[in-house]
Amino acid sequence: MTQMYYDADIDTAKILSKKIAILGCGSQGHAHALNLQESGADVVVGLRAGSATAASAEKAGLKVMTTEEAAEWGDVIVMLLPDTVQKKVYETSVAPHMKAGKSLVFAHGFNIRYDLIQPPADVDVWMVAPKGPGHRVRTTYTQGFGVPALFAIEQDASGEAKELALGYTKLIGAGRAGVLETTFTEETETDLFGEQAVLCGGTCELVKAGFETLVEAGYQPEVAYFECLHELKLIVDLMAEGGMAAMRYSISETAEYGDYVSGPRVIDASVKARMKDVLTDIQNGNFAEDFVSVMNDGDGKKLQELRDTNAHHRIEETGAGLRAMMKIDKKDSGDSHFNASA
Ligand code: NAD
Ligand code: MG
Repeated sequence: MTQMYYDADIDTAKILSKKIAILGCGSQGHAHALNLQESGADVVVGLRAGSATAASAEKAGLKVMTTEEAAEWGDVIVMLLPDTVQKKVYETSVAPHMKAGKSLVFAHGFNIRYDLIQPPADVDVWMVAPKGPGHRVRTTYTQGFGVPALFAIEQDASGEAKELALGYTKLIGAGRAGVLETTFTEETETDLFGEQAVLCGGTCELVKAGFETLVEAGYQPEVAYFECLHELKLIVDLMAEGGMAAMRYSISETAEYGDYVSGPRVIDASVKARMKDVLTDIQNGNFAEDFVSVMNDGDGKKLQELRDTNAHHRIEETGAGLRAMMKIDKKDSGDSHFNASA
């Protein structure tokens, strides 16, 4: 079993001696910047000149510079921009300042794995990838805990890359939960596969297909919504706590028997064969090439069309109506940017 690192195993002296420039203040950016700063690090947020986010970042107590100024100021430059804009921002504003001894840092291996960014050989290149949404990285930290993270070293010019990366994981709170080492290739390919085949793509299509099956058979959409979407969280929480066994322990024998006999009728070998095709497109770079071209050559138009189509699915309209009428415990849902510190 690979080593899991926790706070007690990690020395933060090296990372605390560095100036850390966080480029981008979105989901991950705001969380890293605030957590690092509250853990005692010297942090600046780099934003586009005239960015609307600057005011809220300053209000939250962060120092703000332009992207260019932050890249020049920082010893550790953290790329927390959308994956498809990182190459352009790197080439125009960061590369001129990547002097020997600096670190170039990512929260996802995409731009290195697919050769979109080619850093000089005399800088450290490492990754700290929290395994959860940015807003959870922030709220769990303020509650005294953290989201687990992966770290990876691509280039270790200084000989200190591992100590810096591990120190960074501790300062953002990940060492309270647990930190594992990976590589840029493994993190990128497994992350893309997980979100496409299981977590986001696979789950959404499974939920929609179940909902449609019930509604087309004449059942009430509201009841179908409860059965196929709302209860999913309760089931997944049990799985995250104790695996499938804990979930199956809590459900009825009726549900458990149906799980064993009907699950494999729905998700069969043909599904796995298509998952393998999805993985192949991730490994050979086809997915990355398509995505980068949609976002950069196509101005993200296709993504917007897909968003619009999915937003109008009947399950979304049913759910919006139901959630407005239901009492939901909001404690556990992600906060919007900066709310946690306001
Ligand atoms: P985001 O879309 O939430 O935020 C991006 C930030 O960059 C925003 O503040 C935006 O204003 C700014 N920005 C956009 N275009 C810009 C430009 N041209 N120049 C300068 N700034 C610009 O991004 P995110 O979801 O936090 O993702 C950042 C990185 O973290 C990505 O590599 C992503 O894969 C990785 N990551 C994200 C999550 C997550 O929970 N969202 C989880 C793990 C890893
Ligand atoms: Mg991901």
